[in-house]
Amino acid sequence: MRITRVETFAVPPRWLFCRIETDSGLVGWGEPVVEGRAETVRTAVAELAGQFLLGADPLRVEDHWQLMTKGSFYRGGPVLSSAVAGLDQALWDLAGKAYGAPVHQLLGGPVRERARACCWVGGDEPAAVRDQVAAQVAAGFTAVKMNAAGRADRLPTPAALEAMARRAEAARDVLGPGGDLALDFHGRFSTAGALRALTVLEPYGPLFAEEPVLPEYTHLLGRVTGATTVPVATGERLFSRTEVLPALQAGIAVVQPDLSHAGGLSECRRIAALAETWDVAVAPHCPLGPLALAASLQLAFCTPNFLIQEQSIGIHYHSGAELLDYVLDREVFRFHDGHLLRPTGPGLGVTVDERAVREADGRADAWHNPVWRHPDGSFAEW
Ligand SMILES: [Mg+2]
Repeated sequence: MRITRVETFAVPPRWLFCRIETDSGLVGWGEPVVEGRAETVRTAVAELAGQFLLGADPLRVEDHWQLMTKGSFYRGGPVLSSAVAGLDQALWDLAGKAYGAPVHQLLGGPVRERARACCWVGGDEPAAVRDQVAAQVAAGFTAVKMNAAGRADRLPTPAALEAMARRAEAARDVLGPGGDLALDFHGRFSTAGALRALTVLEPYGPLFAEEPVLPEYTHLLGRVTGATTVPVATGERLFSRTEVLPALQAGIAVVQPDLSHAGGLSECRRIAALAETWDVAVAPHCPLGPLALAASLQLAFCTPNFLIQEQSIGIHYHSGAELLDYVLDREVFRFHDGHLLRPTGPGLGVTVDERAVREADGRADAWHNPVWRHPDGSFAEW
């Protein structure tokens, strides 16, 4: 079997899919994207495919990963690692189809029968938080994730801390002691600010606090983990084992590699195994589309230290299209009491609606995250 063609499709709301075609008729799909940089990654995918994949045997997945990741003197970073990630997913999808098995079966077989999922909730006011959490609990979810704060001062004031505590309290009230509340800090506070925030949030028993400091301050993360009982999570902006290692050394409790950013299934599988040696759980980051989520699920079902799966179905900032618009077998992504069931189809376990993808190609607006400023006009972290 030889790879004959690699195509990419930029589709709403902000996703990029890749399709690897072979001379056997088998096709593999992946999702190589950096949110807000889809066209840049698209170019990287075309370059990698032309240099390393066209004409090659797709079943040499690991060798392709090695060459795509290390075959250029300048390597790594979000763009290149995400391009590799999507191509790696597509190669695993092809391998699964060639061997007639879901990817998790090729990686050792299932270690669980269902994967717990969480949903995003928004809302600036406690009443809005209460309503949104209640809606998710009514839908069967036992875990929600929300931002700890909106646009924030690097050092939050007592008033800002109080507002944060009231929102967390509202969510905890609705969830009860048996539910879980994850809080995403988005690196909006300074290290000292994050410590202040954690102190007021600790009583509400968060499942974890995510990105309490920006990834560029991983060398300060140990100050945070050492000063709070709240489990600390990070990883959506780390792109390899090597980048995850200092966070593990700093004492995080949960690592959140993104299957579409951190080198795909091949590297995220290794990140999970590395995390296991630090007694750290894995909660794959996934605000992306159906192939990123399908790849995340394949990892979840063969990873003993998997914790919970984030997903973006119905997330507030997707407009123009939904995850389910691009797959034919929507059952794969149906929730059962807040869990996703083990996919049994070959490869990534989903059937892409190719006609819908081809029709949507090029209709994606150039999505960018908002650029925020503080009241004094200076840059603020989103
Ligand atoms: Mg996050």
